[in-house]
Amino acid sequence: PDMMSEQLKQTTCPYCGVGCGVDISCNVSTRAITLDTVKGTPEHPANYGRLCVKGTNLLETNDLNGRLLHPTIAGQSVDWDTATDVIADKITSTIAQYGADAVAFYVSGQLLTEDYYVANKLMKGYIGSANIDTNSRLCMSSAVAAYKRAFGEDVVPCDYTDLECTDLLVITGSNTAWAHPVLFQRIQRAKLKNPNMKVIVVDPRKTETCTIADLHLPIKPGSDVALFNGLLSYANAQGRIDRTTVETYAEGLDKALESASSLTLGDVASVCGIELSKVKAFFGAFCEASRAITFYSMGVNQSSAGVDKAQAIINCHLATDLIAKDGCGPFSITGQPNAMGGREVGGLANMLAAHMDLDNPEHIESVKTYWDAPVMPKGQGLKAVDLFNAIEEGKVKFVWIMGTNPVVSMPNRVQVERALSKCEMVVVSDIVESNDTLAFAHIALPATGWSEKDGTVTNSERCISRQRGILPPPGNAKHDWQIMCDVATKMGFGEAFCFTHPSQIFCEYAGLTGYQNNGKRQLDLSPLQALSEVQYNGLSPIQWPFQNAALNTSSPCAKLEANNKPNLISKRPFEDKQFSTPSGKAKLIPVVYKAPLQVTSGAYPFVVNSGRARDQWHTMTRTGKAAKLLAHMPSASVYINPKDAADLGVANNDLVSLTSAVCQDAPVIYPVKADTDMREGEVFIPIHWSAQWGSHSKLGVLYASAVDPISGQPELKHAAVAIAPV
Ligand code: SF4
Repeated sequence: PDMMSEQLKQTTCPYCGVGCGVDISCNVSTRAITLDTVKGTPEHPANYGRLCVKGTNLLETNDLNGRLLHPTIAGQSVDWDTATDVIADKITSTIAQYGADAVAFYVSGQLLTEDYYVANKLMKGYIGSANIDTNSRLCMSSAVAAYKRAFGEDVVPCDYTDLECTDLLVITGSNTAWAHPVLFQRIQRAKLKNPNMKVIVVDPRKTETCTIADLHLPIKPGSDVALFNGLLSYANAQGRIDRTTVETYAEGLDKALESASSLTLGDVASVCGIELSKVKAFFGAFCEASRAITFYSMGVNQSSAGVDKAQAIINCHLATDLIAKDGCGPFSITGQPNAMGGREVGGLANMLAAHMDLDNPEHIESVKTYWDAPVMPKGQGLKAVDLFNAIEEGKVKFVWIMGTNPVVSMPNRVQVERALSKCEMVVVSDIVESNDTLAFAHIALPATGWSEKDGTVTNSERCISRQRGILPPPGNAKHDWQIMCDVATKMGFGEAFCFTHPSQIFCEYAGLTGYQNNGKRQLDLSPLQALSEVQYNGLSPIQWPFQNAALNTSSPCAKLEANNKPNLISKRPFEDKQFSTPSGKAKLIPVVYKAPLQVTSGAYPFVVNSGRARDQWHTMTRTGKAAKLLAHMPSASVYINPKDAADLGVANNDLVSLTSAVCQDAPVIYPVKADTDMREGEVFIPIHWSAQWGSHSKLGVLYASAVDPISGQPELKHAAVAIAPV
């Protein structure tokens, strides 16, 4: 007889950077395992048992309908051996004919850290190019660049617990209530407990997040630098900056103050398009607070001035000593479940693994030695927008896209489609059999998805959690790291890619973080480098940096407590105000306000802003399956101020067409929703819907390929469009 038993498996939710722990109860028999119910993990530090609606409906988004189950070449099923032979041969011949930089990978924050590590090792150490970028470029690369410039390392200096012990929470460029719901609930509870805690929301739209705001600043899109520069200057004028203290841990105060002082308070109000009284109320609250957090997300990052915006925020915290202590700091929140893990292993084209840099020859040498790599890139690779430009120009002949749908998510969709249709070979690894990007794939590879993948993710507060493989891979699906190891082996690199379990990859990566580190970088996971497979499988959530990392390096993981938590104590990054710069001091960087690149004109008078809906995730390939999730917002609309709607002569549900300078002949069409929460002259469109959901829902068509000059992050919150009734 088929014996049934119930088992509880602990894993993490894949639907945002909060990184909630989930307990899955499973029915296990000798023949099969099925997932029964999902609950929040009571002891997981990200959520303490709580889940949002996406988490509670996880199992409804996890069926096999529409799954890609076999490798295909030109749409025909083939075996793995054939598919990986063709890929390995094409990469090898492309390198021989055009050089390593004619090969590119475009990966994703959906990958686990182990997948990401193998992709980076293969591309940077064995193919010899840095042309590996990720959809995290569209998400938080501006925040990364600003942290690196200010602290010398990409370190988010805050924890979720800080949200519970602050006096002032400034939420800017984030609809936290919808995009990071469990954190929003945490903020709500903190405010209930501490009625003196103030919340100030800075957002052009009046979003759900404003329901807890003491003050809402509906600033003009893109004007954040003016606002935070104004705050810095105001703090100085009020005597809120203790120069002697600041100079003990930071450099560059005078230059930052000088550039911030170019706008008067009145100028700030006018550039930001808000009342002077609101500007003063915000500045006053910040200067009075003994603890303050500025919490920011895509509204800051997805901008042609994204790095400057983040820098202006960091400057304010450094200058007022509201940093590296409880309830304080500039806190960027990642969108994806493993955007941080990707950053740690060098997922971006301008980074090396373990927070080392492609601009630093010593770092390149260090990684080369650790990997025993035959070849390393000499500098940075192509960032996402440049990468698709290079594909279109014929410079990149082979691209391997993993776990992401760039045809929908990148700006200038028409150009991305043109690039992919020109590329000699497009390989796409995904869990679904069709989406807008797979339409361009010469080779499609079936990857494992959530509930099958096995590895680790790092959430927005640097907490590493296990995502556990509960179900066996369906059909012929394989883990991303396995697919890459197979290709690497066929290219002759088998020795360096002979991993048989993700624990081996994790341990190699953990070792690299400590290799020649000597306390120079906060990211040092070397105490975890000797985890056994059993220890790795049982690993409890653990947050870096560790207090006793140096001590434990000599006897790595000597002790694991009964709950498999390594005997390590986490500490606050930079708590001793020693930063990862050569001088040990943080840096204030002077910044000046610059208008968005995609400016409105008589021909294109409206600004289009975009963002998440509450119950959907990315391009809906998974969350679109759950009726309960679709019920909240069944289709995409363009949200517009009622006055603008009236001026256009349209009412609710009337269709309008939108065009921009880059898509004059290819309008996108949406129904109208009149919305008093929108500023006049600005419209909002949710990001999730794609051609799959209606041939005209192609938001990306409207955006030009405008990027931040430092981070390369595209300006996805500000396009100039014309709107006309259909
Ligand atoms: Fe999942 Fe994010 Fe919701 Fe948590 S807040 S349950 S991680 S989608």
